[in-house]
Amino acid sequence: MAGPKVVIIGAGVVGAALADELTTKGWTDVTVVDQGPLPTPGGSSSHAPGLVFQANGSKTMTELARYTVEKLVELDCFLQVGGLEVALTPEREQELHRRLGWLTSWGVEGTVLDAGETQKLYPLLREDSVRAGLHVPTDGLAKAVKAVEVQLKRAADRGAKLMERHEVLDIKTEGDRVTGVVTDKGELAADIVVCCAGIWGPKVAGLVGMTLPLVPLAHQLAWTGQVPAIAGQQAEAVRPILRHQDADLYYRDRYDTIGIGFYGHQPMPIDVHDIASVDKAEVMPSVLPFTEQDFEEAWHETRWLLPSTKDAKIEEGINGLFSFTVDDMPLLGESPTVSGFWVAEAVWVTHSAGVANAMAEWLVEGYCKSYDLHECDVNRFEKHHLAPDYVKARGCQNFVEVYDIKHPLQPMEAPRPLRTSPFYQRQKELGGYFLEANGWERPQWYEVNLDLLQDRQVHQPNAWAAQYWSPIAAVEAQITRERIALYDMTALKRLIVEGRGAADFLQRMTTGDVNKSVGSVTYCLLLDIDGGIRSDVTVARLGRNEFQVGANGNLDLDWFTRHLPEDVSVRDITASTCCLGLWGPKARELMQPLTDIDLTALKYFRGKQGYVGNVPVTALRLSYVGELGWELYTTADMGLKLWDTLWAAGEEYGLIAGGRAAFNSLRLEKGYRSFGTDMTYEHDPFEAGLGFAVKMSKDFIGKDALNPDEPKRKLTCLTLDDTVMGKEPVFDGSQCVGYVTSASYGHTINKGIAYAWLPTELTTPGQTVHIGYFDRRIEATVAQEPLFDPTMTRLRG
Ligand SMILES: Cc1cc2nc3c(=O)[nH]c(=O)nc-3n(C[C@H](O)[C@H](O)[C@H](O)COP(=O)(O)OP(=O)(O)OC[C@H]3O[C@@H](n4cnc5c(N)ncnc54)[C@H](O)[C@@H]3O)c2cc1C
Repeated sequence: MAGPKVVIIGAGVVGAALADELTTKGWTDVTVVDQGPLPTPGGSSSHAPGLVFQANGSKTMTELARYTVEKLVELDCFLQVGGLEVALTPEREQELHRRLGWLTSWGVEGTVLDAGETQKLYPLLREDSVRAGLHVPTDGLAKAVKAVEVQLKRAADRGAKLMERHEVLDIKTEGDRVTGVVTDKGELAADIVVCCAGIWGPKVAGLVGMTLPLVPLAHQLAWTGQVPAIAGQQAEAVRPILRHQDADLYYRDRYDTIGIGFYGHQPMPIDVHDIASVDKAEVMPSVLPFTEQDFEEAWHETRWLLPSTKDAKIEEGINGLFSFTVDDMPLLGESPTVSGFWVAEAVWVTHSAGVANAMAEWLVEGYCKSYDLHECDVNRFEKHHLAPDYVKARGCQNFVEVYDIKHPLQPMEAPRPLRTSPFYQRQKELGGYFLEANGWERPQWYEVNLDLLQDRQVHQPNAWAAQYWSPIAAVEAQITRERIALYDMTALKRLIVEGRGAADFLQRMTTGDVNKSVGSVTYCLLLDIDGGIRSDVTVARLGRNEFQVGANGNLDLDWFTRHLPEDVSVRDITASTCCLGLWGPKARELMQPLTDIDLTALKYFRGKQGYVGNVPVTALRLSYVGELGWELYTTADMGLKLWDTLWAAGEEYGLIAGGRAAFNSLRLEKGYRSFGTDMTYEHDPFEAGLGFAVKMSKDFIGKDALNPDEPKRKLTCLTLDDTVMGKEPVFDGSQCVGYVTSASYGHTINKGIAYAWLPTELTTPGQTVHIGYFDRRIEATVAQEPLFDPTMTRLRG
């Protein structure tokens, strides 16, 4: 089986790894083209110092890095000297513990060393300068150029063709399919083209009209001359690779010299069209002249931290270009409009072989089972993410923040505000404290509710959890349960699926039976071919051939679009509509006088169209917070009127506005899962506790792969006396057995709540486990879920 004709554009570390991985899987009709000479064609891989630190808040990114390490070790392209991140401040020391937590959660070994141990491991460090170090023995140095050479050779040995000095000038298509590439030396036919063009990615993708939210930025890398204290070092590297993040610095050995990387200078973005050509570039296209003045601070700090460098000089330096994206994650997947055109872009050496492994699996099998790629999918973006100004601003800011300590709730500061719901003005008047999600301004709580705190006792979280937090959230949650609250749900994605085949289409795409009467609402899942959860959705049947789907993001739209039959269309109505959740025991009393909809007749999980005052609404009787009430949808132009109508009527019932912090706490008390946090592509519905949303008696994508037997692991509800934030490891004794997904404090049940993936044998209620939170362990107990209103009386009442 030679497989389809594949052309890979770019022979950097990503393209080379992909050629190797594809040919390993039996696709051997692979051609790798590069505009430059092999094995150093002049992209970022040709000069990358190759430091591989595996610690990452993303499970997927850590797994991609781990695969890369393991493969490059096997190919003898890796110097496994270990990685060491040092802390000079108490905050950074705490951060090292948090990062160790991620590593532990994702299955990579590491240790936080004390000052003495750190010094011993890296004796060049200034005595008494560091407080602690995070040591990861399997980290090290990837030999990027050798990795290119070795992986290309393996691919060539299996039949792949390598074409150096071939510049791709155009991509050929027929209809909406790729058919080949045009190079400066002739054409190549192709069924599949994969763009691994690194910093040139936007230019190459632009050939098929695809916008990649990626900006090339220069980053400084300098090399000392001989450091006398290590003169005569025979091995290329003996010390761990070193990071001093508070000063935006990293270090590596190169015999008796030291390489110094610096992210502390002003961002230096460059337009992709201004990158020099292979022939005109002074050194190579991705290398710009070293700007010494930008390095002064780095050199000063280096001589302080590593005093022996005082006796050395900076002898070489570059401002090297590589890719930054709007959310720091890679861009992987197929063009939404040109089938057969794929990208693997904005990938570090650290993740290169892992990404290639994932891409090869995705291409050959049609899906990727080994990694959850939803955070990397190139189709995840909203339109505003692709605006050139946005791409540049976010890319530059991500460069600045690359080593910063980032709180999980920390929002981007600029550009804001971008997307505002029709309620924004009112929310500001109520003192909304806004965070940002997918461009939307979302109130986390409302300052106006401070007065309601009065003599309520509110659990005070630990210092880290108390950031981007207010006790007001507690009172908003409590009042939702006691009286009534209004929640802005506009930011959630809404799609209209319509056409003669809409019902059949949604029956095939979702796990639920959505072919029910008009007015029905069904909670169900979108599964991948392998049975992994792609999303959870609510499908409301508005008409015989019209459905409104409450979705999670652009990937749902993309997934639908890729499977769309001719007699069905899908439209994103998120921006043109808005949604308010009106929830609480007083909801019916408040709403009934305002509407022509008979609210008593409208049962749980049913919807109806009608009016609230003058406002046409679609009312769906659903509640993510577990209280009586409705999601009320209307068009954006009527949103403010809807808010004002409810607000005016609400005074009598003590209506308040509630923010996301209260919302999140309430949803966890009810055990409602959130896609992307609690469950992702790598989980099946039964493990995730969502078996009830799967109708095995009908056919749907992913059904054949499902196994409803008792799963080996389960998403499990834990309670605790403190608050954690998510991603923390969970221990049974000294063994890490799982990790936390969502967490909050339950203000009704008066306990901390954490959902965690755990082996089934540890999921019996009453079981005690421990959550690793920074440098301490917090006892947690497996609880029967849901923690609040298990009989659903409040929802159905
Ligand atoms: C100074 C510096 C330090 C770095 N340090 C590290 C580090 O320590 N650890 C780490 O993990 N990462 C590091 N990186 C990042 C890393 O080097 C890159 O992310 C990675 O090398 C990108 O690999 P790639 O294969 O995607 O791109 P590249 O290596 O740039 O390869 C892309 C290839 O595409 C070819 N190409 C482009 N357009 C065309 C066309 N039209 N026709 C034909 N061929 C084309 C180019 O010639 C090029 O060879 C560093 C980067 C820099 C600049």
